[in-house]
Amino acid sequence: MLIKKTISTSIFSIIITLILLFGCDKTKDKPILENLDRIASEYVRLCLRIDKHHKGFVDAYIGDEKIKLKIDKEGKIDLLKLKEESEKLLKELSKLENKTNRTIFLKKQITAANTFIRKLLGEEFSFFEEARLLYDIEPQMVPEESYSEAIKNINKILPGESTALEKLEKYREPFLLKKEEILPAIESALQEVRKRTKEFLPLPPAEYVKINLVSDKPWSGYNWFKGNFHSVIEINTDLPRRIDQILSYIAHEGYPGHHTELCLKEKSLYKDKNYIEYSVFPLYSPESVVSEGIAELGLEIIFTETELLNFLKNEMFPLFGLKDIDIEKWNKIRKSLKKLSSISGNAAILLLDRNKNEAEVINYLKKYGLQNEETAKKQIDFIKTYRAYIFNYYYGYNLLKRYVESGEQKDLFKKIILQHAYPSYFE
Ligand SMILES: [Zn+2]
Repeated sequence: MLIKKTISTSIFSIIITLILLFGCDKTKDKPILENLDRIASEYVRLCLRIDKHHKGFVDAYIGDEKIKLKIDKEGKIDLLKLKEESEKLLKELSKLENKTNRTIFLKKQITAANTFIRKLLGEEFSFFEEARLLYDIEPQMVPEESYSEAIKNINKILPGESTALEKLEKYREPFLLKKEEILPAIESALQEVRKRTKEFLPLPPAEYVKINLVSDKPWSGYNWFKGNFHSVIEINTDLPRRIDQILSYIAHEGYPGHHTELCLKEKSLYKDKNYIEYSVFPLYSPESVVSEGIAELGLEIIFTETELLNFLKNEMFPLFGLKDIDIEKWNKIRKSLKKLSSISGNAAILLLDRNKNEAEVINYLKKYGLQNEETAKKQIDFIKTYRAYIFNYYYGYNLLKRYVESGEQKDLFKKIILQHAYPSYFE
């Protein structure tokens, strides 16, 4: 009896121990997930409320219309209250033990929202601090010497007495599009990049984009994601457009860039997995660095260098009367110019951190970035409007380029899109 009793007690305690061990895990995870879902849904509301103070804070909202209507009706909530709310959410997140990508992503997105509110309240940040808190990056001035090699190359490829910028302008003349040629050029680019994107990314069948030509904007193109897998891409015609730029613009805004990224996030992260945080896309946030990185890298993912040159030379250029372009020469120029892409970040530092005036920065962009007056002025407009956002293109591209090169490029590119991603994740 005694023995039996002892045995049954042992079996009983083993069962209890097992229940505690396995049962506990579930009950421990559930509140964490519930907490995260609640924090995520409060984060969405916070973003919509900030947007009422600064139109454009929310780049896209694809969530429940009822939430948006309710927030529209309530009017502007006091900024101090929004600041308090964001700090409460951050405190709650820091108490959570499981530091998953989702938790870290929310922490960084809410930190950016909190910083944006504090800026609206008049708090001052150094330009570098602003970049770190809003975008999770640590930008630096790129030394000017690093541009001299590329400029020397341009001078070698385009010999002659005039400056590299003047020679570049002359070289580009045949590539300029008439206004009525812009839409047909976009159309031919769109078909190709879409076809190539669909070969490796599961684009929802209902997805589509509409193209509009616009003017008088500080940006050169913008993808407005409307939800339900639909985007409106606006192309700014303030500056002359060249046929050799169209493909990369469309890859950036459409396939496999912004439109594709948001379609896949809407389908997989928001609708299938119920991550409510993906019903809102705040512009001034770490998420944007990854988005711009995806958009900037896209063209290289869907075309090998040879495929790109063949497509331009044999398919796209001839449609616009360019039959005997030396594509190797064009490619050398393109590669040299790519090495100047960090110049816009330097320009922003000079203008917003080192108090240089606009004329000085325009000259700087001409000298080291080989930008003409019109393009440099547009760049200044962009920097004044979007400030540290300018870093997102170059930093996003570099971060993701390093990451995809560590394995199978297309698989890693897809992985970036379909997860909670923020810049420091890739470092
Ligand atoms: Zn973009």
